[in-house]
Amino acid sequence: RQIIEREDQKNLIPRPPVVTILGHVDHGKTSLLDAIRHTNVTAGEAGGITQHIGAYQIESHGKAITFLDTPGHAAFSAMRARGAQGADIVILVVAANDGVMPQTKEAISHAKAARVPIIVALNKIDRSDANQDLVKKQLSEQGLMADTWGGNTMVVPVSAKQKIGIEDLMEAILMTAEEMKIMANPKGKVFGTVVEASVDTKKGVMATLLVQNGTLKMGDVVLAGNSYGKIRAMFDFRGKKIQKAGPSTPVQIMGLTDVPTAGDIFQVYFSEKEARAVVSAAKADAALNRNLPKATLEELFAKFKAGETKELCLIIKTDVNGSLEPIINSLNELSKEGEIKVNILHAEAGNISENDVMLAAASHGVVIGFNVQADPVARKKAENEGVSIRIYDIIYRLTEDIEKALKGMLEPEYKEVTTGKAEVLAVFKISKLGSIAGSRVREGELRKNSKIRVVRKGEIIYTGEISSLKHEKDDVKEVKNGLECGVSIKGFDAFEVGDILEAFTLERSGS
Ligand code: GDP
Repeated sequence: RQIIEREDQKNLIPRPPVVTILGHVDHGKTSLLDAIRHTNVTAGEAGGITQHIGAYQIESHGKAITFLDTPGHAAFSAMRARGAQGADIVILVVAANDGVMPQTKEAISHAKAARVPIIVALNKIDRSDANQDLVKKQLSEQGLMADTWGGNTMVVPVSAKQKIGIEDLMEAILMTAEEMKIMANPKGKVFGTVVEASVDTKKGVMATLLVQNGTLKMGDVVLAGNSYGKIRAMFDFRGKKIQKAGPSTPVQIMGLTDVPTAGDIFQVYFSEKEARAVVSAAKADAALNRNLPKATLEELFAKFKAGETKELCLIIKTDVNGSLEPIINSLNELSKEGEIKVNILHAEAGNISENDVMLAAASHGVVIGFNVQADPVARKKAENEGVSIRIYDIIYRLTEDIEKALKGMLEPEYKEVTTGKAEVLAVFKISKLGSIAGSRVREGELRKNSKIRVVRKGEIIYTGEISSLKHEKDDVKEVKNGLECGVSIKGFDAFEVGDILEAFTLERSGS
């Protein structure tokens, strides 16, 4: 299923590049997409493009360029997580007054992981506080050396607001595309990716597809994810009815039975009957696999051996910036010794977010946390995407595990074992000492030396250590189920009545 057949070299012809725009919030992604659309869509048509289907095509120097109109790397990595190469080229928007910011770095990690070339649009050059040289220096620190400084990255100064430099940017795209030799066979097997999809109360399921190979035609039977159907109507990005669409063309189609997911690969099938059979087989398969454990480092190692992956991709999140360097250094040391390389796709201080999980999913990687937690959305995503998250509190345990993974002899992973729960009944603020949570143990016991989580309305809001544990004014080592106690936590002061305090220890699973 969803196996993309290789096309014979001789049937391939150049197709327009597919471009996506990434960058930090407010750096001008939307403005740039608008500016590109308005400068390049022929006069008279510009006003006509009112609808948004998630992609559009423009013409520059007689050549077409397709833009994915859903800025942000969520869409980009959703595609990659499903094995689809969403875009050929990434435009990284960096505001010249603001410079490289956290989401700029994330975008760079995503593009590098996908091995998609980056062109930098240095935006907002009209601003008096723009500092192009400073931004170029910051970019070089991220491994993107500007071509004007002797590097390989095209950095194009633009102003989306004043429509300056847009043509230069289009030329940079066309030049990059030419070098990349982006090809497809318009007469070949029809497949592509789902850009976005929704339900229209009158028209039913509307899905925007990006054709990547072959030519999609009216009446074709399309299968995308678990959704299939015969194309009843087809529109281009202007909303104009069309009969067929070749490689790199975005089209909106009507006729699918269900709403597919952005990033799903679509293919054309011989008949609706055949498509239906594929969907029911896939559903049965999913039911069988539902209860299997998710991907582990061991499985990843099996993939290395099978030659499917040559490197162990890691996303590293730490509590403080200072922890990053020693961890990265020791992992790089390991990488030098072993035959399998460690590839650190992204390393940053902060909790594990949905984005980290998506980056891992897209690269068959693992998320490693050091003294951090995974937010609830990230945990859910990890479960859905089969991504492993491992959290450590001691650096040598982390490196030990990775070393073992690289040698293919991984010990069972550490897991958090909850040893007791207490409910906060009252909060006392005591000057100098901070807040004390008057609590009652509801399950197990609270031990002075265990770690502790503060859970509010089902969400972990803090993880740390107990700094004092008292039972009736006495300092105690443990408090058993049913008893009251006073708890204070290192670095945490914001108890509320109703909070649940969960004591836990880190143990090797299986032990
Ligand atoms: P996005 O969050 O990356 O999509 O950013 P937007 O396109 O929404 O732009 C954020 C803000 O920056 C808006 O107020 C824009 O008007 C402004 N902006 C975008 N491009 C430029 C530019 O080239 N020059 C100036 N001065 N402002 C810009």
